[in-house]
Amino acid sequence: MSEGILMALAGNPNSGKTTLFNELTGARQQVGNYPGVTVEKKEGVCRRGGAEIRVVDLPGTYSLTAYSEEERVARNFIIEQRPDVVVDVVDASNLERNLYLAVQLMELGVPVVLAFNMSDVAKARGLEFDLAEMSRLMGVPIVPTEGHKGKGIDELVAAARKAGADPASCRPAEIRYGPDLEQAIERMAGKLQGQSPMATPRHLRWSAIKLLENDAEVKAKIGAPEIHSRVASEQQRLEALLGDTPEMLIADGRYG
Ligand code: GDP
Ligand code: MG
Repeated sequence: MSEGILMALAGNPNSGKTTLFNELTGARQQVGNYPGVTVEKKEGVCRRGGAEIRVVDLPGTYSLTAYSEEERVARNFIIEQRPDVVVDVVDASNLERNLYLAVQLMELGVPVVLAFNMSDVAKARGLEFDLAEMSRLMGVPIVPTEGHKGKGIDELVAAARKAGADPASCRPAEIRYGPDLEQAIERMAGKLQGQSPMATPRHLRWSAIKLLENDAEVKAKIGAPEIHSRVASEQQRLEALLGDTPEMLIADGRYG
């Protein structure tokens, strides 16, 4: 499988992830568990258009916090296994809630392709999307699909292969949180240099955001007490200045 790529399928529960996984992999599937947890892990191989793609069906989640095992499994898989591409299966008839996960996947800095699934349901409800403009704004390819009919699968595979083979062709837009939060994020990211095993600027930024959000798992990975006291003082300062906790402000920013 030397030239094969690794694709992770992410998405909200009921967005059609398993349906697309089955379409992609057919009978070539294995079911197991993620190490140390009871969350089911489904893996398969997709052979379409001459490509061989290892496909992992991540647990369905609405977010990527550390509050649930599913969310921790999904994000740790992405951080640790570094899939070549993450296909986010979006329920196009329920876009706002589904895009909340999409922006968090984009924030992880991996190539993301959006599968606009349930596009038949969206259409039946009279919803119309300017996919080219959305794709331009978000910096990620968007492919409409109808999982239960196998529609759009070839186009999805082609977009995923392209993004996986040439990550520069897929640059997820960075979510900006406004000047006060951005300054705090930048200061925290600076402090984290040399403290974090993930040292790329995008990951330092991600860790800084997660610390300001009070993410228990990221906090537990930081040993240096001065980082923890710095996080606490930044949080207090932001709350006094902006009248809300950084956790709430960051969630608002993502919804925006
Ligand atoms: P998961 O929770 O994300 O794994 O979702 P499933 O793959 O189990 O799909 C949930 C339901 O949606 C199933 O009944 C599928 O047959 C159905 N489904 C999947 N994709 C589509 C689609 O594009 N359009 C419609 N109308 N139904 C779909
Ligand atoms: Mg499923």
